[in-house]
Amino acid sequence: MINFETFEPPHTVTPGNIIYWSNSLRDLQGVTEGTAIKTKALRFLKEDLVQYDRNIKKFLVNPIIGYNKTTYTVNNRGDNHWQCNCQFYNKVSYKWEHPICSHIQAVKLWLEINRWNS
Ligand SMILES: [Zn+2]
Repeated sequence: MINFETFEPPHTVTPGNIIYWSNSLRDLQGVTEGTAIKTKALRFLKEDLVQYDRNIKKFLVNPIIGYNKTTYTVNNRGDNHWQCNCQFYNKVSYKWEHPICSHIQAVKLWLEINRWNS
């Protein structure tokens, strides 16, 4: 007899388990530096550094303490077109059709968690 295991999606997703349920992380497959982007994005989430600024209608990713001191601004231009003002984004934005950096990935995960749990 074959036993089938079923994996029920969790009631609540957290920075700890989003890695198993995120659609946006799947998009990173095949992306150069994808693993580094994923690791850093999860760190922003776990340290609760992502916020939405209602006044400027943009997302802010605050710095990891002891790592750097810059807050980066992430903007959703719609249609899965995202912008960030970090150096890495500026470097890849000329080369990639859908440029991504750890800050954009962190915001995408943050949105996924908030939508899932709402
Ligand atoms: Zn960035």
